[in-house]
Amino acid sequence: MGRSAVLLLIVAAGCASPPRSEVPPAPARTATATMAEDLHRDLFAFADDSMLGRSAETPNAARAARFIAAQLQAAGIAPAGDSGGYLQRVPLSRTFVRSASFTVTSPTGRTSLPFGSHLLPVPSLGEGLPLPVLEARGDLVFAGYGLSAPGFGRNDLAGLSLVDKIVVFVNDAPPGLDSARKAALRDPRALGDRLGAIMERHPAAIIVLFTGRQANELPALAAGLTDSSLRLQPSLEGPRVLPMVLFGSTKDAAALLPAGWPRNDRSRPLDGRSFAGKVDLVQDGVSTYNVVAVIPGSDSALAHSYVAFGAHLDHIGIQPAEHGDSIANGADDDGSGSMALIEMAKRAQREPHPRRSLLFVWHTGEELGLFGSEWFTSHPTVPLDSIVAQLNADMIGRNDPDSLYLIGPRSAPNGQSSVLGAVVDSVNQASSRPFLINRDWDAPSHPEQLYYRSDHYNYAKHGIPIVFFTTGLHPDYHKVTDSPDKIDYDKLSRVATLILQIGTAVANSPTRPLPAALLR
Ligand SMILES: [Zn+2]
Repeated sequence: MGRSAVLLLIVAAGCASPPRSEVPPAPARTATATMAEDLHRDLFAFADDSMLGRSAETPNAARAARFIAAQLQAAGIAPAGDSGGYLQRVPLSRTFVRSASFTVTSPTGRTSLPFGSHLLPVPSLGEGLPLPVLEARGDLVFAGYGLSAPGFGRNDLAGLSLVDKIVVFVNDAPPGLDSARKAALRDPRALGDRLGAIMERHPAAIIVLFTGRQANELPALAAGLTDSSLRLQPSLEGPRVLPMVLFGSTKDAAALLPAGWPRNDRSRPLDGRSFAGKVDLVQDGVSTYNVVAVIPGSDSALAHSYVAFGAHLDHIGIQPAEHGDSIANGADDDGSGSMALIEMAKRAQREPHPRRSLLFVWHTGEELGLFGSEWFTSHPTVPLDSIVAQLNADMIGRNDPDSLYLIGPRSAPNGQSSVLGAVVDSVNQASSRPFLINRDWDAPSHPEQLYYRSDHYNYAKHGIPIVFFTTGLHPDYHKVTDSPDKIDYDKLSRVATLILQIGTAVANSPTRPLPAALLR
């Protein structure tokens, strides 16, 4: 499961749950017990320290992908990745700022503003937007607080000519505003509004100066820029037509501010002062891999459609050491879902095949930003509209033995997952030991934002009915202590069995699991 933008609520496992009831020993080796033994063996290997945390930008995720592919091959399960193999290459790119130079020239001389400590280039303003230019020069214009929208009692852009200029503004609220309007101006969206209004006037560059807490966060942002920023390719290729955008702090920027600031905050050209900036980016490619396999359907008319099962094979790699251990094993996240999918595919392969085909996708790069599922749904190896449902398993081996969270039926748009949610309930209720299904997290507005934090989200964006199964967060989430000895293998086996039964029910139904209004 990926990180949330909001603070993580740690669920104290065990504290609030009733004592475990003793489960009577099984009379013989049941299918569940056999599966639990296999899951135990596989997950101890998959989440072993030797896998070094399976981080997608390292060869360790490729090793994890090959581990899964080898198991599928041994079981005789058909590949469905690139060009007849199990793997699907997901190209990532990594961008570094190699160097940058920024200079202010005034009648009294030249001032250099060092990259990192004083000014930071913004390499991209967002997905799908053209890119900022890497070189800019021009006369400096101070644009106050950059305000031009009505309601703030001033228009900092009025009367200024900004074409081909280097525009400087302070991203704060002017004194004298009431607290509601101050808060509105400090919202991150207000920065986008200010940048957009200035860009419409075609400057050569925009320098945003921060104050207070936002200024204090700039060093961390600088570290992120120089380390790397991983994204799906193509990333920093494309037209460079937007002005250069730089971030800095008012306390290091006397050369960019008018005399008398902040007492005198009137916008005006900074007569006699000019600015020159140049940014040198380097980019290199990194390959990471999804694993894709298929169990062909038995009905010639329905076999060209698919029920997809998903998990993610990557984890978060090396982390700060705890008691001398720095390898994040990711046994629950998402070794549990990854190994469960292998067992599900093996069982489905042995049993009579359902009418529709079953597609198994182990996604990479989930922890970096759901990259593997974004790539798969934009470069699917089967037609995307032939996927009738996606069942995502991420962190399914922990917490109370009978508890299971379900996310999707209430969160996905247009009620597109409501019918699938009803299938989950009916299959669960028909089982010999149903789970207690908890829907507390199934709301797009829930502060944990779990609906947005795993791979199902990318399938839902394409209108595919999804459900996300998880046994929930715990104190070992994204820590080096998420280790295979803490997994409840009996529970993991029961969750895997339930998900396979749900998928099989959907795969045997001649109608797609969609509300009548959405059926074509
Ligand atoms: Zn995670």
